[in-house]
Amino acid sequence: AKAMGRGNYQFYSEEMNARTLDRLTLESGLRHAVERGELQLKYQPQIDLASGDIIGAEALLRWHPAGQHLIMPDAFISIAEETGLIVPIGEWVLRTACAQQVAWRRAGLPNLRVAVNLSARQFRQPGLDAMVARVLADTGCPPGRLELEITESVLMERPDSAAQTLQRLSDMGVQLAIDDFGTGYSSLSYLKRFPINALKIDRSFVRDIAMHSADNDDGAIAAAVIALAHSMGLTVVAEGVETARQRDFLRALHCDQAQGFYFSEPMPAPALEHLFIKGEAS
Ligand code: C2E
Ligand code: CA
Ligand code: CA
Ligand code: CA
Repeated sequence: AKAMGRGNYQFYSEEMNARTLDRLTLESGLRHAVERGELQLKYQPQIDLASGDIIGAEALLRWHPAGQHLIMPDAFISIAEETGLIVPIGEWVLRTACAQQVAWRRAGLPNLRVAVNLSARQFRQPGLDAMVARVLADTGCPPGRLELEITESVLMERPDSAAQTLQRLSDMGVQLAIDDFGTGYSSLSYLKRFPINALKIDRSFVRDIAMHSADNDDGAIAAAVIALAHSMGLTVVAEGVETARQRDFLRALHCDQAQGFYFSEPMPAPALEHLFIKGEAS
């Protein structure tokens, strides 16, 4: 699949931010969201910057209660986290994403990697590794085709137990990425103790690239993160790429992968499959 541009995908105008809905309504609704089949995943393509190929997709959760607008994760993930509902919801996300990876294999896209976000509560849940192993076995998703995204702050809170959890996941062959890198104030060298594969540069640093043409510090943080991460043997993924200039800048710095609205919005699985196949043909 070659590089895609803007306009390849329609925006979902019915998406809303449900900050206005009251918390209790959300909480009681969320309790039944899994069993009522109200959760869905969208997938945002991840692009290999050197080739322009789609190499994977990040699964992003949406909640669509019957007869209501689609609710975005920022409006309900923290409630799910506080109530513990994130544990069953997160398992549903993982299972659905792994099943999707297997569906892509069957559709002739065997190498697509699927990335899944893990929340703090999920990450600290005893038996997380057993749950992941069970889902991989049940679905038949190869461990190496699953990437788990964990934020820096989750690792820094209890670094010793975090390192042990990551080691168990890494031993299973699962790929591990640090999400929102650069927002948690940890040093890159500190991350050496964790068995991780990739860093995702937070979009605030990508936004800084080529914003003001007179600035010669444009993208300085992104550039430093890329160089240091490479020196540590980590793959670098840039998030929130919205312009061709940002893509070109990142590519010139040998940033490995990127995702963002410039390439594509998060989309339903069949649309991603279509985009992949269309891109391959061109
Ligand atoms: P995140 O993990 O950093 O995910 C990336 C977010 O940035 C997504 O928002 C995505 O739609 C958005 N995005 C992608 N490209 C661009 C771009 O070019 N520009 C801008 N401005 N934004 C872009 P989304 O889907 O609303 O998710 C928000 C957050 O909710 C995620 O941030 C993640 O922290 C959380 N989340 C989403 N799905 C899950 C899930 O299944 N489990 C958990 N625990 N958290 C989730
Ligand atoms: Ca993420
Ligand atoms: Ca992120
Ligand atoms: Ca700047």
